Amino acid sequence: QLTIGIVGLPNVGKSTLFNALTKNDVLAANYPFATIEPNVGVVGLPDPRLDKLAELYGSEKIIQAPVSFVDIAGLVRGASKGQGRGNAFLANIRDASAICQVVRAFSDPNVVHVDGKVSPRDDIETINTELILADLQTLEKALPRLEKEAKLRKDRAGILAAAKAAAALLNEGTTLYAGAAAAGIDAEELRELHLLTGKPFLYVFNVDEEELNNAEFLDELRALVAPAEAVFMDAKIESELIDLPEDEARELLEAIGQPEPGLHQLIRVGFRTLGLQTYLTAGPKEARAWTIPVGATAPEAAGVIHTDFQRGFIKAEIVGFDDLIAAGSMNAAKAAGKVRMEGKDYVMRDGDVVEFRFNV
Ligand code: GDP
Repeated sequence: QLTIGIVGLPNVGKSTLFNALTKNDVLAANYPFATIEPNVGVVGLPDPRLDKLAELYGSEKIIQAPVSFVDIAGLVRGASKGQGRGNAFLANIRDASAICQVVRAFSDPNVVHVDGKVSPRDDIETINTELILADLQTLEKALPRLEKEAKLRKDRAGILAAAKAAAALLNEGTTLYAGAAAAGIDAEELRELHLLTGKPFLYVFNVDEEELNNAEFLDELRALVAPAEAVFMDAKIESELIDLPEDEARELLEAIGQPEPGLHQLIRVGFRTLGLQTYLTAGPKEARAWTIPVGATAPEAAGVIHTDFQRGFIKAEIVGFDDLIAAGSMNAAKAAGKVRMEGKDYVMRDGDVVEFRFNV
């Protein structure tokens, strides 16, 4: 299971957000929230398509795709040199598949900022610097070994070159995520080094409620992190939302001009940042979303349900979600020629509604 690691300086609203996320069962109904460890939360990927499918098929229940978040405390200025929890958090970050930084953009003077001023730009740089320093330490340790290996084995030349180029980039203060591609660094070569800054990043800006509709303000923040994706929310409001009954939660969202909770956006953007997508199945028992990597083929998708489905794969009967809903039923979709039989080379698309044919 791929996880999203939540990091951020102290007092930016990390715990507020994480607690809200893990109690998030009001509007993201139907998904049994699972607590694995205190700092790990598995939440359902909000997907209104499942409600429509369940309606169409009279499904008894809805099962959303799970998305895992890990609250990683202890990333402070100087962490790479042993400040705070020191290097303890590094192992946690290494285990995560994407890094989500929570950035304070709310102004409340009653909440102390560790550096004495609210500056999203500086906070992002502080965290980036710690991750960059951690990667540079990893590379310093690895390079002498890689040099030796490259002398003995031709096939190690690639990783040595990539590691050297990565160190140069990091020394300029650029993360691998932001700069590796432009610098012509082959990220695949670096995989075995488990560098932190090569993971995909996303950002949550914790903003004041009044700023949620201030497009200019949000655009400035977005520009700080592009091409990484940004999500905006008021963590305090989010934590209030989860304690409200559904109708009152909707009223509050309307009052602040938001179509949905910021947490839902975060879950969706996080899922996408992991490089994942879903396909859908439906029947009288359940309407369900299944997680696959972008680019997965039909047999690989079948394998997510059961390895036997992949082994015995014959073909997949597929209709796009929108085509199915427009037709009104599977039979009508078939009559309209919208249902396709796809073979083992078919690359799945998000929102494909699927029935697999297989031999057992
Ligand atoms: P963490 O150290 O990053 O986990 O931060 P916390 O979630 O513990 O939040 C630190 C303080 O900021 C707490 O007193 C929160 O109530 C407050 N806080 C968190 N989010 C917001 C917000 O969106 N607006 C305001 N005004 N205060 C917030």
